[in-house]
Amino acid sequence: MKVPYVEADLCTGCETCVSLCPEVFTMQGDKAFVSSPDKCGTCDVQEAMDTCPVEAIKWAS
Ligand code: SF4
Repeated sequence: MKVPYVEADLCTGCETCVSLCPEVFTMQGDKAFVSSPDKCGTCDVQEAMDTCPVEAIKWAS
């Protein structure tokens, strides 16, 4: 299973990914992180990746 992660150094905290995939992404302080990688597939993670302004969302495998 492909699992996304957020490269915290790149994340600007714009919350776009949280808006697009609230099942997968959660804000922690001013950074987003992947809180539920197993939920991937219930929303459009690829769209979040493509929409992230700094390309901080990547596939771990
Ligand atoms: S879309 Fe990208 S920059 Fe914006 S909160 Fe998500 S990971 Fe961070």
